[in-house]
Amino acid sequence: MNKTCLECGEKIVGREDKKFCSDGCRNAYNNKINKDSTNFMRNINNKLRKNYRILSELNIEGKSKTTRAKLLSKGFDFEFFTNILQTKTGNTYYFLYDQGYMVLDNDFYMLVKKDI
Ligand SMILES: [Zn+2]
Repeated sequence: MNKTCLECGEKIVGREDKKFCSDGCRNAYNNKINKDSTNFMRNINNKLRKNYRILSELNIEGKSKTTRAKLLSKGFDFEFFTNILQTKTGNTYYFLYDQGYMVLDNDFYMLVKKDI
């Protein structure tokens, strides 16, 4: 059976299970799949990345405290996070990937890092 390259459509010679004619075509194809497909997605991903960067900067030790004012001054956007974790003790952690935060009293925030 004649197979053609998924990227450029050239005929593929060689092994049966090959999908691309070259490494270049495989890379080009995978880059397209992984690219954020819309501006909307790109904007959200940028916000998530920015939030993550801010938490990482403030939480070098893996556990620390900060204030809402400090987070806001760095441009942190509380609307964007990747997941929520509810503990059995009733605390709610908001995570950006492996960096998380929990609201404490008086505008303080506890920053934590998830062990993966
Ligand atoms: Zn090709």
